[in-house]
Amino acid sequence: MNDVGMANILDGKATAAAVREDVAAGVATLRAAGHPAPGLCVVLVGGDPASQVYVRNKDRAATQAGFEVSTLRLDAETSQADLEAEIKRLNLDSSVHGILVQLPLPKGLDADSVLRGLDPAKDVDGLTATNVAALVTGSLGHVPCTPAGCIEILDRHGIALEGKRVTIVGRSMLVGKPLAQLALARNATVTVCHSRTADLAAECRRADILVAAVGVARLIKGDWIQPGATVLDVGINRGEDGKLVGDVDFAEAVSVAGAITPVPGGVGPMTIAMLLKNTLSAARVAAGV
Ligand code: NAP
Repeated sequence: MNDVGMANILDGKATAAAVREDVAAGVATLRAAGHPAPGLCVVLVGGDPASQVYVRNKDRAATQAGFEVSTLRLDAETSQADLEAEIKRLNLDSSVHGILVQLPLPKGLDADSVLRGLDPAKDVDGLTATNVAALVTGSLGHVPCTPAGCIEILDRHGIALEGKRVTIVGRSMLVGKPLAQLALARNATVTVCHSRTADLAAECRRADILVAAVGVARLIKGDWIQPGATVLDVGINRGEDGKLVGDVDFAEAVSVAGAITPVPGGVGPMTIAMLLKNTLSAARVAAGV
């Protein structure tokens, strides 16, 4: 905490920019050794406006880092069989190192079945069963980008996990569960909370590092936070005024926490940066580097 009793703001935008710079340097090294640039294909089914924005941002960040980026746009009426055939084609395309299926898929399409058909080596979102198993068993695989971004932001601010009480609110396959595994692998003592947790405030108060990945605007109050704790806010919600707000009541938390990520500009920008990192690593493996 700084002198005036306000938390250090963990700037995800700057941290993500540093990760993207490292990735760009990695791409340059790969190319200089005569290997192709990492190829990322984003599969977008239907015209969900939020997904369109995410895809545009991914496209821009990947292009800036020196990737070959393509977006496969399929209309919302695409059949399960046609979508899975496209995934098979991308699995076999040697210029594509990372495939990202933008979720959620339109109603009627089965995301689990699509993921089962994805080559785990190209699953840069870390969602296939093979990569989930790798995470749990501690073997090499792609780690989901948002939880990986949470760890990276801690690492790049010198906040160690070893021996700390880490409490994660949320147990989704996308954020809460993989983050619990990552924190455990760093020798943290991990508690995972959810909608049936008996006394959420008390669980949160015990945390040295508190992560909110819930999807409820300002659920976590200032007095749920241990003074000096580190708070990572993964939530992205629309406030009453239409602005983005996190799962943590930032105005209250900022005078209690030791360090905190803002929303926007915290964990959010880290997700794309980690996607690039995973895709670079897939391209390196494909190149035998
Ligand atoms: P999700 O799949 O909806 O999971 C939400 C989790 O929160 C569930 O485990 C749920 O418990 C729990 N929960 C819901 N209400 C609760 C309550 N009142 N008290 C305690 N726990 C509660 O969401 P998600 O995909 O993990 O995403 C979580 C948030 O992160 C969302 O705001 C999302 O927009 C954001 N997000 C951000 C990024 C990023 O790049 N920064 C990436 C992904 C997600 P049950 O399991 O019991 O239902």
